[in-house]
Amino acid sequence: MAEPLVFISGGGIGGLATALTLHQIGVPCLVCESVREMKPLGVGINLQPNAVRELYDLGITESELDEIGVPAKEWALVGLNGNDIYSETRGRIAGYHWPQYAVHRGQLQMLLYRKVVERIGADAVRLGARVAGYQRLSDGGVSVQVAYADGAREDLAATLVVGADGIHSAVRARMHPDQPPIHWGGSIMWRGVTWAKPIRTGASFVGLGTHKHRIVFYPISHPDPKTGLALINWIAEVTWDHADATQLDGWFRPVPIETFLHHFADWTWDWLDVPALIRGGEFAFENPMIDRDPVPTWVDGPVVLLGDAAHAMYPTGSNGASQAIVDARVLGALMCEHGATPAALAAYDARLCGPISRLVLRNRGAGPFGLLNLVDERCGGRFDNIDDVIPPDERNAFMADYKAAAGFAMETLNRAPATIAPGARVAAVSAPQRVEAV
Ligand SMILES: Cc1cc2nc3c(=O)[nH]c(=O)nc-3n(C[C@H](O)[C@H](O)[C@H](O)COP(=O)(O)OP(=O)(O)OC[C@H]3O[C@@H](n4cnc5c(N)ncnc54)[C@H](O)[C@@H]3O)c2cc1C
Repeated sequence: MAEPLVFISGGGIGGLATALTLHQIGVPCLVCESVREMKPLGVGINLQPNAVRELYDLGITESELDEIGVPAKEWALVGLNGNDIYSETRGRIAGYHWPQYAVHRGQLQMLLYRKVVERIGADAVRLGARVAGYQRLSDGGVSVQVAYADGAREDLAATLVVGADGIHSAVRARMHPDQPPIHWGGSIMWRGVTWAKPIRTGASFVGLGTHKHRIVFYPISHPDPKTGLALINWIAEVTWDHADATQLDGWFRPVPIETFLHHFADWTWDWLDVPALIRGGEFAFENPMIDRDPVPTWVDGPVVLLGDAAHAMYPTGSNGASQAIVDARVLGALMCEHGATPAALAAYDARLCGPISRLVLRNRGAGPFGLLNLVDERCGGRFDNIDDVIPPDERNAFMADYKAAAGFAMETLNRAPATIAPGARVAAVSAPQRVEAV
């Protein structure tokens, strides 16, 4: 294959959405992904309506999303007394022009991977290809150091580099060598999936508990017509005041359910049995809730960060994957305007780095789950009528504010033109030359 115009480090959701976007606008690209084999790893994630809109614009269909997930109908917070703190409809029934989806993260990645291979070709994604770093060249281009799983190493020249290599990004480490280590606030999450009867609307996202001790669950499949059971994604979470840094080792480590079930032993109500939900899981992954301190810029000339590499955030707002997809589309739109040039990357940085870095910090402060903090502060989590604790107007204003910050305020999104106009293309593209490093 000829050397790529745009080199993408990482074939996760952000990297693959970028490849599909670049192909759509006529920009050649190459993805290098460190894993040797693509496997559907991970459990549930949410795709907010702004991201679903972008997937539709990429030609991913509703029926394809229905195979890997389910349109969400409700978002609800419930107190430990089993009473609602807040609930609202979501997706089309709320009035959005696009649904919100709860999907299996690994199956979404596999769907995007299949699309890249179908549309661009099998050699558009190199597996077992780890990016070690990059060097800017005197002609304005970049040389990327790639280490292959078989031990070979290669320097590849590219016009632009997109670092979409996740929270442990090598591209970001090269761009910001003095960045602080991973940030952890003391929360551990245990994630799993269980076949169970979906509750409430049948497609509800429910967060139950307090801001330091809670369970979040939502279906990520349509119910089986024979059994009525759906695949329920659950995240059990505990926050320690005096956290021990050794707990940070558990990044997506499989653990026996007994290691954490006791935190939820008496969490039963007549409508929900949390211990049974957790015990029904075939496995559980432990992972600390981590993010990264924002950096002042996501761009170093012809190199740009995208997705978790740019803005790894706590999953409290359910928007990490959604923002990675939106990043890819905004980058594509700005390339249509400025060409596949550093000017497009600078415009992307100017548009997104500030607001999304603020969103990272906001999610660190609990994101939409911040309502649980308020309940805790005002009544220690005990209440009969939530209106006496947080009046409805205050609850609604809190959520509206979050949705606006995360880019899915309904009226704004419904009114907004497509990020990339149908048929838009980048005017002229030219292949990179091999030149000396600067
Ligand atoms: C295995 C895995 C499982 C996950 N499971 C969940 C989950 O269950 N729920 C949830 O909310 N979020 C999960 N996440 C995180 C979630 O996917 C991201 O927050 C979000 O989708 C943003 O995606 P991203 O593409 O920016 O980053 P990621 O999804 O992290 O993708 C980054 C990709 O880059 C690759 N990579 C890393 N370093 C290099 C390198 N040096 N060179 C080349 N390639 C590299 C990685 O293998 C990965 O495929 C998971 C991430 C991973 C990697």
